[in-house]
Amino acid sequence: MNPFFIIYHLRKMNTKKIIALITIFIITVLPLSQVQRDCFSAYRVVIDPGHGGVFSKDKKKHGDRYDRLSGNYLSYFAEGANYRRLYERELTYSIAKRVEKLLSYCSENGDFSKFKKILDKYSSGEHKKIIIETKLSRGPSVGFKEAKSMNDPNAPFRLYDYPDGKGAMIKGRISKINEFKPHIVVSIHNAETAPPDYKGMNAVIAPPYKIMEDGLNNMKKGKFISPVSYGRLECWFQGRKGVSKKRAFYEDVALYFTGFGLKKNYSSDSGNFKGYRYNMVSWKYADKGKWYEKAMEHKSGSQYADYKTCKISGKYWERERSKYEEFRRGSSFQNFGGDNLYASNEIIKYILTSLAKKGYKKSDKVAGKPFVSVWSVPLLVNAISAYIEIGYFNRKWDKQVLAKKHDEVAEGIAVGIYSLLAGLKDVKSSKIIRPSGKAIDFEKYKIDNEKTYFDMVVE
Ligand SMILES: [Zn+2]
Repeated sequence: MNPFFIIYHLRKMNTKKIIALITIFIITVLPLSQVQRDCFSAYRVVIDPGHGGVFSKDKKKHGDRYDRLSGNYLSYFAEGANYRRLYERELTYSIAKRVEKLLSYCSENGDFSKFKKILDKYSSGEHKKIIIETKLSRGPSVGFKEAKSMNDPNAPFRLYDYPDGKGAMIKGRISKINEFKPHIVVSIHNAETAPPDYKGMNAVIAPPYKIMEDGLNNMKKGKFISPVSYGRLECWFQGRKGVSKKRAFYEDVALYFTGFGLKKNYSSDSGNFKGYRYNMVSWKYADKGKWYEKAMEHKSGSQYADYKTCKISGKYWERERSKYEEFRRGSSFQNFGGDNLYASNEIIKYILTSLAKKGYKKSDKVAGKPFVSVWSVPLLVNAISAYIEIGYFNRKWDKQVLAKKHDEVAEGIAVGIYSLLAGLKDVKSSKIIRPSGKAIDFEKYKIDNEKTYFDMVVE
């Protein structure tokens, strides 16, 4: 349009009309362009209740972790913990549904005033409205009885992609979570027991690349250093029942880099292939084309070789080495566990605060030390991963919480998620379980003005 034409018409209008036009412009056009430019205009959150399916001895048909190389499932389906009539898969879903309901007050058309009333119980500061889009990673779990009459009862609950039997692959839960491009994924679990030094509720985290790389460099030199003599690595070593800290660490390193286990003498166990897990999900970081034909040869010097000669290259490994993964998983002493551990521990503190507000507390209940290993979900979801063991069936207090306190736990999780996204000032709680209330610095995950690391997970 000719600018002189506009000026001619503006001169003909009276002042009132011009003011009205400018007002319309400010109200409609400006905010729209701002929303488009800001990549944090709405946050995406996935609530991921653990498990959902049932165990079956028939691994070939009902397993998980489908391997393209062998055409088999490499693991049995993990049905989760149970105690008498309490099932982890059911109670985690019950809690997740309640979290979803609470966070719906923060959706675009939700009644934020209802959520504000909850926030007021935790903090007297101003609570700004943010938009949260929430998704659950699965529907209600299947029961033993109904599973018996079903052809593939674990289908909606598998973590990894699996074949439909007609030559195509179906997306598993990890792929579906990443498809939503979430900023935060909260995985809810519990266990039957925990070692005595695991007090309270515990985070589940995956080690950062730098730590694993140190381990691989040691292995390549045949130097299996034990944790006691190793400063930076030490806190990442963690044993489990019947497995020493050192052994567990190097098994994790071998599995992470090569997909193979280790023999007793620490040589690569070529008969114990556990799969290339980053290629078992659909995302930008999987190898392309018929990668599995190459991988089958496990050619020495390639990315599919054993730990002695493997060359760590490819899209997934670029991701692993990126600064964003270091933000998420944090290798330094100051930032141990990164945003993943911070988010998990903050949510745990909010859960304990929520329970305490209803008079339900116990002095040794804290955000305890994290379980560290190459767990699938914290490693392969491209989001801040808050993965929490809510409790243990063999502890009385925990069992009560797991059986009966779903509303309280859910409120803690929902408030925790809000706090991680928007921050909460001076949270009212007792000292030992008080959350810091600091929001995660999401700005550092920005790639440019329009995209974040989280947006880039699928092509
Ligand atoms: Zn679990």
